[in-house]
Amino acid sequence: MAVIDLPQSITEFLGKQHEVLIGSDWRQASGGDPIAVINPADGAQISAIGESSKHDVDSAVAAARAAFEDGPWGAMKPDARAKLIYRIADHFEAHAEELAILETLDNGKPISAARGEVISAINAMRYYAGWADKITGSTHTISMPGDHHVYTMKEPVGVAGLIIPWNYPIVMACMKLGPALAAGCTAVLKPAEDTSLTALRLGSLMLEAGLPEGVVNIVTGYGATVGAAIASHPGIDKIAFTGSTMTGKAIAKMAAEDLRKVSLELGGKSPNLIMEDANLEKAIPMSAMGICYNAGQTCTAPSRLYVQESIAEHVIEGVAQFGSALKLGPGLDDETQIGPLVSQKQFDRVAGYIETGKAEGAEIASGGRRVGNQGFFLEPTVIKQTRNDMTIVREEIFGPVLVVQTFKDADEAVTLANDNDYGLAAAIWTENVGTAHKMARRIKAGNIGVNTTMTADWDVPLGGFKQSGIGHENGIEGLNLYLQTKAVFTTL
Ligand code: ADP
Repeated sequence: MAVIDLPQSITEFLGKQHEVLIGSDWRQASGGDPIAVINPADGAQISAIGESSKHDVDSAVAAARAAFEDGPWGAMKPDARAKLIYRIADHFEAHAEELAILETLDNGKPISAARGEVISAINAMRYYAGWADKITGSTHTISMPGDHHVYTMKEPVGVAGLIIPWNYPIVMACMKLGPALAAGCTAVLKPAEDTSLTALRLGSLMLEAGLPEGVVNIVTGYGATVGAAIASHPGIDKIAFTGSTMTGKAIAKMAAEDLRKVSLELGGKSPNLIMEDANLEKAIPMSAMGICYNAGQTCTAPSRLYVQESIAEHVIEGVAQFGSALKLGPGLDDETQIGPLVSQKQFDRVAGYIETGKAEGAEIASGGRRVGNQGFFLEPTVIKQTRNDMTIVREEIFGPVLVVQTFKDADEAVTLANDNDYGLAAAIWTENVGTAHKMARRIKAGNIGVNTTMTADWDVPLGGFKQSGIGHENGIEGLNLYLQTKAVFTTL
């Protein structure tokens, strides 16, 4: 076991009474008592963050509004904005190891994963920096009688409220900050109460890199108070939210009050379909890793496994064995492959689903038990004898828990796959390219992998069908969430 020693910069950062970022000032949050930051690997308190009040949210929105309307930000040329976002990305990169360690301490994920995700987050900033000076409108030859000059332009939507979850904190922060800044918006960012440390650190790093006052403001605290204050704030023009479908629906209702623009990246219960002609040497480990990565706390995780009958026993056994062989442990041990769940609350939720599955008549094929007596560790779990009407097959569990069923043919596979309220991602494993693409057409999901479960790239839109969301992030579609189109008609 090679456990990373905490550098002094991290110990000092953890020891701080964390404040919130309003304008260019760090201020004490005025909501209530500080919120304890818990290390999921041992349940111990490692730091404390501020609980913001509605008043703090008002101040953050006012600072973002002033920066948008009157500050140097609005007048900054697109190439200067691009350069600044690149500079921010470089500064994040110079602190990559520190950010990765903080992410592991706060979220629990293995340090190897945290390091990869920090790089991915930096790549998101660079990807969108590249868009900042390529925002264009269009010209139109119109059919109306007379002589006209008609064009459109894209304008930043204004002040964006960014509400992010705890599963990929730094990635989520950058995948929203990148396009918001590239578009010329200003932002109020609210990280999840369980994992706010990296967002706070990013705030300091952005200021050091030269971000003008008020362009990004960061408030910490609970969803029901601080998150709701953002979602219902009349001074916010656009909400971008990633999190559970239940919270997404609540936010959509709040945003509807003033018809505030809203984009929602919500839950998933993604089907993973393995046909009998699939390359099982790839399908088995990737299916197992897909549900175990980040301890299953991934919205696109392939969490419903459907296997063709003739290969079912072999696949179920293979996936279970792969999961059981993964090294579970504290994230700061660089040999760890699966860390703990993020919190006691999440552990109880996932363990509760396993009990519900048993009560509904499903059978635990492997795992299902807590590991150790400190921290929130759960064995990778495979559950068989399931049906689509069971709670554990319908609902998102958000843990390393795979539910498995069999199917006869491609038709039945697609029918089972589509029989769910979610429609975020899906995977199809087959060596027959025709079967793969015919199935891809019929599956109702926004993101489909053929012979892979890894389908994310900053250039490719990601968004949910059905109750998995509204709007697409990433790529130009992600940039467009922060822009609005204005059409100008001139009679010549
Ligand atoms: P979980 O229940 O697993 O914590 P959520 O989807 O509720 O997941 O949380 C994602 C983000 O949404 C977090 O930043 C959280 O604080 C925030 N949030 C939770 N409830 C609300 C709410 N009612 N309004 C706005 N934001 C919320």
